Amino acid sequence: VVTGASRGIGRAIAKELALKGAFVIVNYNGSKQAADETVNEITQAGGKAVGVQCNVADAAECEAFINNIISEYGRIDILVNNAGIVKDFGGIQILVNNAGITKDKLVPMMKAADFDAVIDTNLKGTFHTMRLVARPMLRQRSGRIINISSVVGIFGNAGQANYAASKAGVIGLTKSASKELASRGITVNAVAPGFIETDMTQKLSEQVRNQILSQIPAGTFGKPEHVAKTVAFLASDDASYITGQIIQVDGGM
Ligand code: NAP
Repeated sequence: VVTGASRGIGRAIAKELALKGAFVIVNYNGSKQAADETVNEITQAGGKAVGVQCNVADAAECEAFINNIISEYGRIDILVNNAGIVKDFGGIQILVNNAGITKDKLVPMMKAADFDAVIDTNLKGTFHTMRLVARPMLRQRSGRIINISSVVGIFGNAGQANYAASKAGVIGLTKSASKELASRGITVNAVAPGFIETDMTQKLSEQVRNQILSQIPAGTFGKPEHVAKTVAFLASDDASYITGQIIQVDGGM
């Protein structure tokens, strides 16, 4: 199960796992057409996938989503919590050059609704699916849970307190669950991408993109495939003794 797999990093993860032989549930919230494209790309390459709508921020929808998968397919071996939203990128400008932030993004001015929306999807969405998938995984005595955090959850970022808090929360959730589930053959890890070229990051101006680039030791932006390969490794048998880890895929940031 890959949440938020209609585009970007989630699509790349779904394709990589399918290439490795997984039957992939391609989750999306609003973008059915894009999710269908992900499924088509997988099936055309000889893999297996189906698209399933679910808003991960909604606990009841997650319950129906996961329960339906279990009743239809019997088991879930891999859960990738990738669905995520960002309200703006003002903070990344601050991270780079201390300029260009609008006041309403700073903590004293941030709207409670903007804080809640990001926490509801990024952090609570991860919790909802994790708790539901952990139950059948406990019975199976095997499973892989991989959560997508962000370097911003490690460094913090002015102007992105909501996003950074949600991604730092994902790290705490990952580390705690890894300790609870390790004895039953279930690993729980997180991948923290740096700056990856997707729809989420395409809204930035050329000037800001150049500034960010200057902060990446590798000298290039990451690609969704860089994250997908790391997720596929963590999902594989080769990673069976790795749990509770946060792997940064950030070109050295
Ligand atoms: P993206 O291109 O904006 O795609 C986001 C995906 O999440 C879409 O498939 C979207 O589907 C889905 N989604 C959003 N809200 C959802 C909800 N409530 N329920 C179910 N699905 C939902 O983003 P991306 O850049 O690929 O990012 C993917 C993940 O990586 C996110 O968690 C993000 O925070 C993290 N990340 C990205 C970067 C980066 O540089 N791009 C860096 C660090 C971390 P719909 O369109 O159907 O809603």
